[in-house]
Amino acid sequence: MSTPRDEARLAVVSRQPRSFDVPRLADGHRAPVSSFFGRHVLDLIKLRERMPRETFNALISTLRHGSPLTKDIAETVASVAKEWAVAHGATHFTHWFQPMTGLTAEKHDSFIDLNVQTMGELRVIEKFSGSQLWQSEPDASSFPSGGMRSTFEARGYTAWDPSSPMFLVESANGRTLCIPSAYISYHGHSLDHKTPLLRSIESISKHSVAFLKLLGDVDVKQVIATLGVEQEYFLVDRTHNALRADLMLSERTLVGAISPRHQQFEDHYFGTIPPRVIAFMEEMEFELYRLGIPVRTRHNEVAPMQFEMAPVFEDVNLGIDHNVLAMDVARRVALRHDFVCLFHEKPFAGINGSGKHCNWSMMTDRGENLLEPGKTPHQNLRFLAFIAVCLKAVHDHAVALRWSVSGANNDLRLGANEAPPAILSVFVGQQLTEVLERMIAGEAAKDPEHFVLESGVAKLPALAKDNTDRNRTSPFAFTGNKFEFRAVGSSANCAVPMSILNAAASTALAEMTARLKKKLDAKPGHRDQCVAELLREVFQETAAVRFEGNGYSEEWKQEAARRGLPNLVDTPAALAAVREPANHRFLVDSGTFSELEVESRFNVAMERYLKQVELEAETLIEVVSTQVIPAGERQLALTGSAVQAMAGLGGNAKAARASDTRLQQIAEALSRVIEGVNELRAALTEAHGTHDEAKVCEALGRKVRPKMDDVRGAADRLEMLVDDALWPLPKYREMLFVK
Ligand code: ADP
Ligand code: MG
Repeated sequence: MSTPRDEARLAVVSRQPRSFDVPRLADGHRAPVSSFFGRHVLDLIKLRERMPRETFNALISTLRHGSPLTKDIAETVASVAKEWAVAHGATHFTHWFQPMTGLTAEKHDSFIDLNVQTMGELRVIEKFSGSQLWQSEPDASSFPSGGMRSTFEARGYTAWDPSSPMFLVESANGRTLCIPSAYISYHGHSLDHKTPLLRSIESISKHSVAFLKLLGDVDVKQVIATLGVEQEYFLVDRTHNALRADLMLSERTLVGAISPRHQQFEDHYFGTIPPRVIAFMEEMEFELYRLGIPVRTRHNEVAPMQFEMAPVFEDVNLGIDHNVLAMDVARRVALRHDFVCLFHEKPFAGINGSGKHCNWSMMTDRGENLLEPGKTPHQNLRFLAFIAVCLKAVHDHAVALRWSVSGANNDLRLGANEAPPAILSVFVGQQLTEVLERMIAGEAAKDPEHFVLESGVAKLPALAKDNTDRNRTSPFAFTGNKFEFRAVGSSANCAVPMSILNAAASTALAEMTARLKKKLDAKPGHRDQCVAELLREVFQETAAVRFEGNGYSEEWKQEAARRGLPNLVDTPAALAAVREPANHRFLVDSGTFSELEVESRFNVAMERYLKQVELEAETLIEVVSTQVIPAGERQLALTGSAVQAMAGLGGNAKAARASDTRLQQIAEALSRVIEGVNELRAALTEAHGTHDEAKVCEALGRKVRPKMDDVRGAADRLEMLVDDALWPLPKYREMLFVK
């Protein structure tokens, strides 16, 4: 009799790569990407073509200089948006926002309206007003608010973010106009990830401009934080996913023995992309291109069935909207190819997990990358100054940054010899280290211009590039012209770490501006010297956070402790530390969060951690009790009869002993699983023996999770003893080597 697992196996081997309707030229070749890129986006070019010049200019002035958005602009944009969307087959519109669920949210409204015609007859027309574009009012009471809900009204508003363009999302039978929006409570408190991000973007711009003024760049009006995300993910076949409650409910395998073949041959990374997978990627990329998302790279990652995509970088707000949208598209398109796309940080124990490297920099409105060494001594002194800003940001705000990448899932990956450690340090590369050390030694003090010329800073991009991948163990690495924040988890909305990073940089900028001002006042006319003096101080003060060695090593943990760097090993530890006012005050002072909002974020993070670990524990208990133990019992009965049969034959005592040993092994593994589940249940109950949520979190992380590992260890031993035909769960080898 064939089992569901057999059927899944058969289904998977017979699948073929799926083609889709790609746009073609007259000669049958695929149309170039440029011919359909952004087709589903209402971008500025489309708006300019369709709006009166004056109103369009007013919109631009809002976007560039923050002048107030008027009802007039909204009315015109709404009418253009409706025409465009309806002409492209849209029937509905929705404010598209990012509540603290880690997902996006939408509430669709149809464009239809009833219009009274002559003689009182009602007619349906398509309508979309400025106020509908401007804001909508989804009920806030079912979204996480971290306690703000009890203090304030349940009402929440989504408000149009004109800095991220509207786009069309396609479903099987229609299209919906999506309006990127912020989400705020009735009293103006942020309930989402976008609002603090937008505030942090403003803050970093303001403080960079002020700092640049002192450095001599007086005509910079705006500084834009930039972001390019490298998104990792796994694909598993849909049928396998459906047969595993753990994958279905928690996106990770809670049991499952590692297969003899895993990633040891290092043959997956950058290898040939399997045909079914590349077919999926092509269709996903097509959809992303139409949405104006500039995905550029695709490749196999280290683990089998693990892949990566990365776009060309954009401003951080758009980059995040695009990443969130890309994850959504990936999930949807994967299903069409009979895959499930997993963004979980650690879907398979024993093989590499997934991250989301956030490449981040700052760019002036003239298009100069402030982390790119330039051609003149002035540009390079400025470059060093911004390196100092970043070092100071990470040094002073390491706890908040560590917290920003925490979470039940990323805990399974950080510090596990495959991902950056939980200790935040900065890697700058050997060349730059030498320059910084010489500055600290005072070499630049007298003649900064000469120092910068001969220290070779201008040659750094090429040199530093060589360093890029030599240190994959650093959580925050300089890679030639940007920093790469590598500790971010693959499922995260990176608005969280990016808001905190922007706020940390703003705070560093504000302090350095004040200090530089003081020096300039004391020594007018000696700008370069004052800057060099400030940099010397900052490089010295932040020296502890620079680390060039192996971040995975045990010695680094000890060395970091000696340097006084925080090592917050898990989410409960990160949460406890960030709750200390000294560790998060800058978030309020920089205007990124209000006091109440900060508190609410911590509560939401705690709640999410709690729910996630509980969900996993309960899922594990269910899978083990209803699938693993019954399989073990069947095997025990079978082997038990075999042992009796063997004994009945008499004679071969050696064989009888061997088969008895096998029976003992099965019995032992099975009883370990049963005991383990009981202990896990007890640990869960005990964890809830207090009303202090922080204590519950700690118990879940440090008592319940280790018990889960025990259960898993026993279940995985049992898997290796049970008849393959009796094992109900798809095994690692089936899931990880799909061709
Ligand atoms: P590497 O592979 O060495 O990390 P890539 O050029 O592949 O370098 O960059 C990875 C990501 O970094 C891409 O998304 C890229 O667009 C982005 N990136 C490059 N320059 C910047 C920048 N100035 N600011 C933000 N992201 C950047
Ligand atoms: Mg990279």
